[in-house]
Amino acid sequence: MGKVRNEVIREESHPLMTPIFDSLRYRFFFVMGLVLLIAVMLLALIARQWVIPALLAEEEKYATAELDRAVRVINGELNHLSLLNKEWAIWDDSYDFVQGDSDNYLESNIADDLVFEDADLSLMVFLKADGAPHWIAGIHPQNERYTSCEGLTADCAWATPVLESLQQRIAGGLDDETRTWLQARPQQAMASAWSIAKSNGDGPIAGWLLMMRPMNDKWFAKLEDRAGLVLSIEPSDSNATAQPRQTIERKDSQNMTATRRMTAEPEGAILALNAELPRHSFRTGIDDFRLILYWTVGLLVVVVVLLLLERMILSPLRRLATFTQRVQREDDIDPPRSLLQRRDEIGVLARKFQQLLDHQRSQTSSLIELSQRDPLTGLANRRLFDKRLEEAVSAANLSDQPLALLMVDIDNFKAYNDHYGHPAGDECLKTIADAMRKHFSRPQQLVARTGGEEFMVILPDIPFETSVQQAEALRLAIETLALPHAASTVSSVVTISVGIALHTPAHPYDIEELTRAVDGALYTAKQAGRNRISLGDAHVLS
Ligand code: GH3
Ligand code: MG
Ligand code: MG
Repeated sequence: MGKVRNEVIREESHPLMTPIFDSLRYRFFFVMGLVLLIAVMLLALIARQWVIPALLAEEEKYATAELDRAVRVINGELNHLSLLNKEWAIWDDSYDFVQGDSDNYLESNIADDLVFEDADLSLMVFLKADGAPHWIAGIHPQNERYTSCEGLTADCAWATPVLESLQQRIAGGLDDETRTWLQARPQQAMASAWSIAKSNGDGPIAGWLLMMRPMNDKWFAKLEDRAGLVLSIEPSDSNATAQPRQTIERKDSQNMTATRRMTAEPEGAILALNAELPRHSFRTGIDDFRLILYWTVGLLVVVVVLLLLERMILSPLRRLATFTQRVQREDDIDPPRSLLQRRDEIGVLARKFQQLLDHQRSQTSSLIELSQRDPLTGLANRRLFDKRLEEAVSAANLSDQPLALLMVDIDNFKAYNDHYGHPAGDECLKTIADAMRKHFSRPQQLVARTGGEEFMVILPDIPFETSVQQAEALRLAIETLALPHAASTVSSVVTISVGIALHTPAHPYDIEELTRAVDGALYTAKQAGRNRISLGDAHVLS
């Protein structure tokens, strides 16, 4: 115990003041910050690795579905155009017109551009049965002027790309698959073609009728009203084979543009259909994740705070409190080593507590020491002597060993005081006390000053002869000190008389009897003339 205490308290690494880095507050916040940092990094990693990719995949699915819907809407529009186209193509007036048999067909049906506007058309082409243009009319895509031409004249040259596409399709055979298509040049448009036949199905076909409807802002605005889709279309890079069929461009956290690339005429042309879409699902997903994140971090903070509180503060405090309670019951215990070695405030408390405990213990032992010592000679006093005699008698009884008790009295000491003065008497007492202490210096032996000039000596485990020899040796030693005593009646120097009582297994005494016996022995020695030792009435030895 004492070893641990000294080590810990002297060590410079365990000062009584706490350096800032060892302080509980610093360590608490440091550990907390570290745990939170790791948690946030982990959550960020989870977000990056799993959550955001999953949300993006979900968003991609949504974009694909919306683009599919947009394509279906455009196909519907193509069908619609195709129906109108069919109506005109399988109409006997058109049949006659393309064969040159109707003079007023144009005047009554397509007199001006109004019919184009009403039907949202930008071009109508009548081909003859041999594939040669019979009549072309439309609104020029750049100058928006209406032109109509008999055959492919310069005024209608702008329609050449459409015408070529139509002729190619006719050559390949027109069926439900090929009769509608998207056109990239001379404008972005949808086109439809039907063979011109008699309404009753009689006779050969007389030619072909093409109708083209521009996919312009007006058309897209209508589409937005009907289908709720914000669409636009633009020609894509002609090297489009290298580009993916579908891409998503995320502009910000709110909106994105999903693009589907579609083949168009003339051959090799690609039209990019753009759908402007909100990023609902992504935003809700991110919001949900953020909510989960806040909760997780919040709960983590609570758990970490509780754990740290328990580990760093409550548990060591409990141990310190338990220790302080134990100190009241048990005497010689020290704070647990684990507390003394802590570098934080609890360590400081434990070390301070131990210092106070040590101080109190040393004060107590000094008080005990003081209460058991004779101040003049430094020998044991009556109180200690009584205690030690009791212990010695018990030990002798237990071990069946003899015990000798000596009572020493200075001869004619009153006269010494009277002759040399009281201070000299004190000096004499001290000299005799020192001599006695030296003479009986074994650990178990005790010399006590039990009265004014009267001393007691406890000699345990000592045979009869030896005790007598030692008493006589003491008497001789005092005499040999040769302290002058001019007033003595027995010698010219200070002498002592010694009474001896023996407690043996054969003749055991209790304490009172033993004290009485030794007192009697001393009396006998005095009576017999002083400066001698005595075992009692019968044995006076000089
Ligand atoms: P005896 O040989 O019969 O023992 O005679 P005595 O004079 O020694 O015995 P007595 O009991 O008559 O006297 C003891 C003296 O011891 C009395 C007192 O003056 C002296 N004395 C007691 N205590 C002290 C002390 O502390 N200092 C001094 N200087 N003298 C003391
Ligand atoms: Mg006396
Ligand atoms: Mg005396």
